[in-house]
Amino acid sequence: REFDDAGLHPQMRENVRLCQYGQPTAIQSYCIPAVLTGHDVVACAQTGSGKTAAYLIPILSKLMGKARMLAAPRPNPTRYNPATDRVRAEPLVLVVCPTRELACQIFDEARRLCYRTMLRPCVIYGGAPTRNQREQLEMGCDILVATPGRLMDFMNNLSLLSLSRLKFTVIDEADELLSSGWEEAMEKIFGGGGMYTNEDADHTYLMFSATFPKSARRLARDYMEEDFVKIK
Ligand code: AMP
Repeated sequence: REFDDAGLHPQMRENVRLCQYGQPTAIQSYCIPAVLTGHDVVACAQTGSGKTAAYLIPILSKLMGKARMLAAPRPNPTRYNPATDRVRAEPLVLVVCPTRELACQIFDEARRLCYRTMLRPCVIYGGAPTRNQREQLEMGCDILVATPGRLMDFMNNLSLLSLSRLKFTVIDEADELLSSGWEEAMEKIFGGGGMYTNEDADHTYLMFSATFPKSARRLARDYMEEDFVKIK
């Protein structure tokens, strides 16, 4: 199997080439078609398996076809005045992961795969001042990579961040998140109680994890379509 035969958007094929990924890894060869055909995905995946690209490639490829219509409005960066030009971040994709390091790696990969598109990735994480992250969000955000604590902080300020336009929600390293006290936050993010995520039938959920404790299986059962694809 080759990336060129996967039915990706031409710009995504180009960006994959620029990233110098040769052949799809095993998880990519299962996950890419599943996401392109609109399925929710639960995948057992270790770091180094190429799992980040396994979800970013098909998600971003799908959005590229509609980017002109969907991408966030951008303030002119040279004449940006935060007092008047503030844009509320309404991302289309949310990726939640447990650590700052992982968030930055995912962001970096998203940036490379968004090259020459209107899609703009942002990253937010704890342990750093919020100001710069806030300014990044206010410049427009289509793909948001976040650690859960900082995400909750920003979510509590609805004038800054709204999850009502989300089309894809990804939880990466779900077992780590669920075992370190973020279970309730994950429920909120996945379920939203109608408040954070839209009830849109074409909302896609993806979960990546090394192990599948009961709490992870419950999240999949409660929020995903019954025909979600399992990748071992
Ligand atoms: P991950 O498992 O997502 O942490 O990815 C591990 C590393 O593999 C990252 O540095 C990716 O840039 C790289 N990578 C992802 N997919 C491929 C691929 N198909 N071929 C070669 N390298 C890849």
